[in-house]
Amino acid sequence: MPSKPHIIVVGAGSFGGWTALHLLRRGARVTLLDAWGPGNARSSSGGETRVMRGTYGPNQPYTKMAAHALQSWKEHERRWNCRLFRQTGVLWMATAGDDQFERGSLPLLCDAGIRFEELSSAEMARRWPQINLEDVRWGIYEPESGFLGARIACQAVVQGFVAEGGEYKQAAVVLGKSEFEYRRGLKLSDGSKLTADQYVFACGPWLQKMFPETIGDLIRPTKQDVFFFGTPAGDDRFSEDRLPVWADHRDRFIYGIPATDGRSFKIADDTRGAEFDPSSGERTVTAETLTMIRDYLGFRFPAMKGAPLVETQVCQYENTPDNHFIIDRHPQAENVWIVGGGSGHGFKHGPAVGEMVAELVMEGKSADSMFRLGRFGRAKN
Ligand SMILES: Cc1cc2nc3c(=O)[nH]c(=O)nc-3n(C[C@H](O)[C@H](O)[C@H](O)COP(=O)(O)OP(=O)(O)OC[C@H]3O[C@@H](n4cnc5c(N)ncnc54)[C@H](O)[C@@H]3O)c2cc1C
Repeated sequence: MPSKPHIIVVGAGSFGGWTALHLLRRGARVTLLDAWGPGNARSSSGGETRVMRGTYGPNQPYTKMAAHALQSWKEHERRWNCRLFRQTGVLWMATAGDDQFERGSLPLLCDAGIRFEELSSAEMARRWPQINLEDVRWGIYEPESGFLGARIACQAVVQGFVAEGGEYKQAAVVLGKSEFEYRRGLKLSDGSKLTADQYVFACGPWLQKMFPETIGDLIRPTKQDVFFFGTPAGDDRFSEDRLPVWADHRDRFIYGIPATDGRSFKIADDTRGAEFDPSSGERTVTAETLTMIRDYLGFRFPAMKGAPLVETQVCQYENTPDNHFIIDRHPQAENVWIVGGGSGHGFKHGPAVGEMVAELVMEGKSADSMFRLGRFGRAKN
């Protein structure tokens, strides 16, 4: 590579934005492209908030990555003088049946240096009487975790990137007749053509369409409905000062973020929804999910029973078969990299993923085998 290589990053979501920033800091000339802008309403990084937590179950790299990413989020908040992270704490409720996920998380939290407390249900009831703890046996409380702003964080990353000398352009890369064309240059929606030494595609749920041969069904976008319910007037028990982010791992994995910044109580089901087209899909929630969420809300937070629905959002997960990210070179194009497959948990890791990808691209290294395409038998490595 020449002394100052030119690298194009396609996609300014959590993965692409941070990758562009770290490539720049490693000495590359970087052009970042996005079809609709950082954190746009169709992207997987859009919307208001994302959970920042370390509890992740046994045998995985994400607890350590989350610990590292959180330091970076906080450092950049200071550097850019903006508020991206809210330290509300995160509460995991372990139910009577199966608590392997929570038990298996504890040694990894210790290893990663993420502070946590193991709480009995009696102690949880004392701290958060607004939660009905029926069938909850114990819990993990991460006092230094919380939630991140989503769209505002993507925009802050791009602003920081431009301030440090990166070039950002709002334009769409036109799908090639073949995915092998990208290695020789990109056609843009404004009719221009851009060439570079290397290309990083961080196009979230669109990777499937951009790389039909290499990715295809390895990334499956699913529709995820998100609900915001109005809290009782003058009642702050469901706001960020009184309630942590919470996660309830029962037959379904349901989680929520307390009311913040005049917005309401957010609640969503992590169960994968129907297949979804991120460009043309209509973003209306289904009546069945709403009924299920309402029933749950009334059960777990009795004072919210019958609360009005004040807002909804539809986002999509970009799921891989094993829910691990995809970070790899294109198997037939040395100068093309594919970064994505956040699988419903990628946002928080943006800073750690960006650092990792920048190192791989600039130093010509191979990604960790757990992120490589070879694990699906789809690549030559
Ligand atoms: C409802 C919901 C809740 C979630 N909750 C959490 C959570 O609590 N914590 C967490 O860590 N993660 C969470 N996630 C997952 C996380 O948000 C995603 O994994 C992450 O944001 C993916 O980022 P990305 O950069 O890979 O993709 P995206 O954010 O989708 O970015 C891809 C970008 O590529 C651009 N693009 C696409 N095609 C082109 C093209 N041809 N030319 C130019 N640009 C293009 C798009 O405009 C887009 O901006 C959640 C996701 C959803 C949907």
